[in-house]
Amino acid sequence: MKITAISIFPEYFSPLELSLIGKARSQSLIVFKSINLRDFTTDNHHSVDDTPYGGGAGMVMMAEPWGQAIDSILEKDGEIDLIILTPAGSKFNQKKAEQLSGAKHLVFACGRYEGIDARVGDYYRDRKSVRVHEISIGDYVVNGGEVAALVIIEAVTRLIPGVIGNPASLDEESHNEIGALEYPTFTKPATWRDLNVPEVLLSGNHGEIQKWRQEEAKRRSELGQ
Ligand code: SAM
Repeated sequence: MKITAISIFPEYFSPLELSLIGKARSQSLIVFKSINLRDFTTDNHHSVDDTPYGGGAGMVMMAEPWGQAIDSILEKDGEIDLIILTPAGSKFNQKKAEQLSGAKHLVFACGRYEGIDARVGDYYRDRKSVRVHEISIGDYVVNGGEVAALVIIEAVTRLIPGVIGNPASLDEESHNEIGALEYPTFTKPATWRDLNVPEVLLSGNHGEIQKWRQEEAKRRSELGQ
């Protein structure tokens, strides 16, 4: 999978050199690139923002640098999934992660300031070669789309075959079905600060262990914790 992040802080993505994603990149399962939106400006100050029409506080990111940056990607790659990060988008979840994990090239538009001129999404929504997804990572506001892109990149790329060492660990995970949470997990020692691991997990009885896990998963899911 190719992933491109467009941002005024392209260095924000250095964590993607680490851990499983770093390994997947070294194996070319993921090809990641971050590009600087300011490289697509034409003025001496490399401006990317201007005052909002209609007035109000803050600055809005201008459409043209975004248009130039996205077009430069489309010139090389005919088809993309364009993800515009915005608190006004549809809420990200595991189902969306699964859907995006089948994409060939994900392009993340990481907003700053008061966000990106709304015409950017409208313009590319009308292009056949672009699937536009306006996505929020939750009902809160962060300073920029970069951290939101990192969340989505982690959730999506771990579903790509070969990225997680043991694919079986994906089978019973939380959120595989809407609202479903995984059972609680424990490791050695069996007693830690007077707290014991549930007896059944030490019993070696796989049927009973499975039953206990299903019940615990159900209980947790019902509580939503
Ligand atoms: N004025 C905007 C509003 O109230 O909806 C918030 C702008 S926020 C300070 C700047 C950028 O951070 C946004 O353009 C978006 O890219 C990103 N962002 C902030 N919160 C987000 C969220 N919950 N989900 C996705 N992106 C978010």
